[in-house]
Amino acid sequence: MNRLGAAAALQKLREGNARFAAHARGTGTLLTAARRAQLTAAQEPFAIVLGCSDSRVPVELVFNQGPGDLFVIRVAGNIVAPSLIGSVEFAAERFGTRLVVVLGHSSCGAIEATIEELHRPTTNQSPNLRAIVDRIRPGVEELITRHKAEGALAVEHAAMTANVRASVKQLRHGSAIIEGLIATDGLVVTGAWYSLEDGKVEFLEETLPA
Ligand SMILES: [Zn+2]
Repeated sequence: MNRLGAAAALQKLREGNARFAAHARGTGTLLTAARRAQLTAAQEPFAIVLGCSDSRVPVELVFNQGPGDLFVIRVAGNIVAPSLIGSVEFAAERFGTRLVVVLGHSSCGAIEATIEELHRPTTNQSPNLRAIVDRIRPGVEELITRHKAEGALAVEHAAMTANVRASVKQLRHGSAIIEGLIATDGLVVTGAWYSLEDGKVEFLEETLPA
């Protein structure tokens, strides 16, 4: 079982991203024969990441981690739906992973599609794509009005960060298993966003239990 607490796991992600953003290569990301052999027996991912499917945000690379390090769930718009909650429950229970990070990013197509949809509602959208937009939409409408004067980029950033916070909240409260692990077992669910421009990840500012 995983022995790394949430705060130490978060520190590893911060350090990994700093290496990535500085174009420095870590030694732990390569899959050596020894590491592969070790991973056939078991996995102990130190963090669970719910990220976006965007090709420009490859989670392991962004945090400079290798095979066996991260339990990654990717879906357009890093939304929360039952199967995604189930994936988090599975990893947190099975591997004892104590940190969950929802990772959004700048220029997210799912966020842009939601904003477009609010400006110009379409009727011919696929019901499957609509299921994603509908999960991002709550809260975004009000942000468009509030940040309109600051321009389209500001609206997009506000919508993206609000979407990360919404997913964090849904994960924290969307499952009795996760709620229980948070209350009694040191599980931390937090959020972060990745900048395509400088390669840096910014984390939600929160105090973590040690
Ligand atoms: Zn995206």
